[in-house]
Amino acid sequence: AHLDRIGEVDGAVHAFLHVDTEGALAAARKVDDDIAAGAHVGPLAGVPIALKDVLTTEGVPTTVGSKMLEGWLPPYDATVTRRLKEAGLVILGKTNMDEFAMGSSTENSAYGPTRNPWDLDRIPGGSGGGSAAALAAFEAPLSIGTDTGGSIRQPGAVTGTVGVKPTYGGVSRYGLVAFSSSLDQAGPCARTVLDAALLHEVIGGYDPMDSTSIDAPVPPVVAAAREGANGDLSGVRVGVVTQFSGDGYQPGVLRSFEAAVAQLKQLGAEVVEVSCPSFDYALPAYYLIAPSEASSNLARFDAMRYGIRVGDDSTRSAEEVMALTREAGFGPEVKRRIMIGTYALSSGYYDAYYGSAQKVRTLISRDFEAAFATVDVLVSPTTPTTAFPIGERTGDPMAMYQADLCTIPANLAGNAAMSVPSGLSDEDGLPVGLQIMAPALQDHRMYRVAAAYE
Ligand code: GLN
Repeated sequence: AHLDRIGEVDGAVHAFLHVDTEGALAAARKVDDDIAAGAHVGPLAGVPIALKDVLTTEGVPTTVGSKMLEGWLPPYDATVTRRLKEAGLVILGKTNMDEFAMGSSTENSAYGPTRNPWDLDRIPGGSGGGSAAALAAFEAPLSIGTDTGGSIRQPGAVTGTVGVKPTYGGVSRYGLVAFSSSLDQAGPCARTVLDAALLHEVIGGYDPMDSTSIDAPVPPVVAAAREGANGDLSGVRVGVVTQFSGDGYQPGVLRSFEAAVAQLKQLGAEVVEVSCPSFDYALPAYYLIAPSEASSNLARFDAMRYGIRVGDDSTRSAEEVMALTREAGFGPEVKRRIMIGTYALSSGYYDAYYGSAQKVRTLISRDFEAAFATVDVLVSPTTPTTAFPIGERTGDPMAMYQADLCTIPANLAGNAAMSVPSGLSDEDGLPVGLQIMAPALQDHRMYRVAAAYE
């Protein structure tokens, strides 16, 4: 049924870069056979899922939304992919994304934009717009995203779906094509909080193949989602971050947020205002740290090891082939990031740019620590605006970066954060998201609040 649905609507939505019809049907048949043979299967066995094209899938194309990896067939599965297969999930295919996960609208994909199912002339968020649009268009009931600065939560917010960035290190990055290694985190996308929690427990947990994987049990997110569903938040302290309002926020988004806070109070939560002054510097710090790491990570695309090769290597030097390949393989936003990152890391500028950004990162972590000493979770709008029209911000990178204003602090500090649908804006009738943030390894706290609110 989901493959049929993809056939019907994906021509217009373009959530998928690759649909693996045969692989999906074979995986589904295997679950049927296992059940017929009396085998024990997990709670998500047989459930279809779409995978952001940044996670490797053995023998199935993985492009990261880039021309650079066109035609590349990974020789191995990412740990997330492997865990999905072992749990019997049926992988439908790979979803569209901004090239190398750099963007906030999915317009930076080398394969054309994804459209928002709520309004096909608008963006579905980014960088994981394909994974969110696939849920909103009922092409898949579950999907996987990755969140470096908001790429799971922001698409979730603008498509009316649930998106979770787990605690950094809570889900393995093995086989996740690196953008900014100290920020990248894979996580579950779903249409309900409980669905996201079930998927979280399948993909989460320690992996010796990832040196930053946390060696601790997966937080009990399914139990928390079930507990929250009884709608009682008494005893829960919720902090409203005062920095996330003012200029750049649509009045409709702010009104939706006020209504959400009122509802949390009604459910029994105690709500207080919390100030996190360093959050004002999160965006500039992120746009130095993420490009710096990207400039280093993307050095591996050298025309020798992966992907395309441009230029005749019998007549040209290795340097020329490398330059021609990177010229043709990378799009404008990726080149911009490589240049910013290379500059910020260069001797003479390192302390002023990268060093300062790292100090801001520490201050942001301290703001979170101080806040979580008095509250259980923090809340804010997920995005300052609802989905904007396709093309509106493509010529203005600074305007595009503003879409990450509320989501970036959680990546810089490494703690958990999620977006849950918060109704439609009374301004334009488009979905709004409520962001809930929790301390590292306390992911279950935000699931409880989200399930009660949902
Ligand atoms: N929009 C942010 C960026 O362009 C975040 C991307 C992400 O989370 N992958 O870097």
